[in-house]
Amino acid sequence: KHRLRGGSRRVPVIDRMAPEAFWSLKMQHLVCGISSAGRVVPDVDGEPFLVEKAQGPYVWDQKGRRYADTALGFGATFLGHTDPDVTEAVRVAMERGSMPAYAHALEEEAASSLAAHTKDLSKVIFLNSGSEAVHLACRTARAVTGRRKIVKMAAGYDGWFDDVAFGNAGSQEALMGSNVRPSNGDTLLLRFNDVADAELLFSECNDVAAIVLEPMMANAGCVVAKPGYLEHVVSLARKRGALVIMDEVLMGFRLHPGLASHHLGISPDLATVGKAIGNGYAVAALVGHPDIMSAFEDKRVARAGTYNGNPVACAAVNASMKVVDTIDYTALRQAGDALRETIRVSFEENGADVVTSGYGTVFTLWSSRSAPIDYREAVQKADPSFSANMHIALRRAGVMSMFGTYGRHYISARNSAPVMQQLAEGFASAAQQLAV
Ligand code: PMP
Repeated sequence: KHRLRGGSRRVPVIDRMAPEAFWSLKMQHLVCGISSAGRVVPDVDGEPFLVEKAQGPYVWDQKGRRYADTALGFGATFLGHTDPDVTEAVRVAMERGSMPAYAHALEEEAASSLAAHTKDLSKVIFLNSGSEAVHLACRTARAVTGRRKIVKMAAGYDGWFDDVAFGNAGSQEALMGSNVRPSNGDTLLLRFNDVADAELLFSECNDVAAIVLEPMMANAGCVVAKPGYLEHVVSLARKRGALVIMDEVLMGFRLHPGLASHHLGISPDLATVGKAIGNGYAVAALVGHPDIMSAFEDKRVARAGTYNGNPVACAAVNASMKVVDTIDYTALRQAGDALRETIRVSFEENGADVVTSGYGTVFTLWSSRSAPIDYREAVQKADPSFSANMHIALRRAGVMSMFGTYGRHYISARNSAPVMQQLAEGFASAAQQLAV
């Protein structure tokens, strides 16, 4: 078998280029033409893509073409776009006033419906984005432990605030050779899936307030944790008096109705959730043990935010939690895993090795025989040309996806069998288009 290069005559090769370079839409006032990096997709066959509407598992472009969507709001619209129950709850909240300034009943209702899914992390603070939630989690850990250092995974992504916006996938620091400990201010990097590195770190530093962990390194291409790795790091952190913050902004509610860490047998001290908890509305939360979160009640930790816990966000959480309780997660994960296997077989039939990493509801494709087990391997296996051409081939086959080497495909909880079939056919078509 050969490695796909995406070099077929039908598929133009885009190699190591930002999609902006292939984007004909020019915005005059919007910086870089977009409010957040990572949303731009290239023109395909001379046509730019602006999304016109999104509903259920589909998005439509400005010419009315419908695509099965695997970007799903970067994982936020876990229940599918414009879920009818969430939309209705939000509509009612909006009509009653989206920003009343005063306490309102929806807020405690949303906190208790979220806490019903997070076990002993039963105290909740609502924020507007995952980045804010991680920011507050770090501040909480510092106040509670009296320590300064924050440890995050090299190549992990925990939002864009200063404490953690360092060593992300693609950066030089993320590569972390042996015997180096990249740091930036009070932030130290840890090599994911390397138990010895975690032991070394705690032997080197006794000022760690918290370690920020993800259930898998989703933003580095769904690099899953080795068996026992997360448990080991958690128990090490505990022994050394550091708090464990599970960053579940992306993974929360994707594996079961609650924290992925709990599903995997891990018990963090604090967790951040976002995305799926509001199904596409701007909301995130910090959840924690009552004894830790009492630091807010004692006024040892400051927090504020005009939009925190606004009625629209809380209505979205309430409605999403109700829908989440009706989902058959086992069937959902199995359907996603079946699609992953279908994709592998489609490429095999076209003479190429393509594997997926991750879980049934969120995964990344690799032009390789095996999935990467750490970031170094991810870098070796990453093939920007393959990833770019996969996006293009999928789009031609009626499937929209994230653009980029470490991009993820999300499966929504409301993807029916026909949608899964459409996705399977889209990937099969991509496999044919990309065959050299
Ligand atoms: N943590 C993780 C694991 C994430 O995936 C993200 C966003 N992709 C964030 C934090 C930041 O969340 P937001 O974009 O809502 O600020």
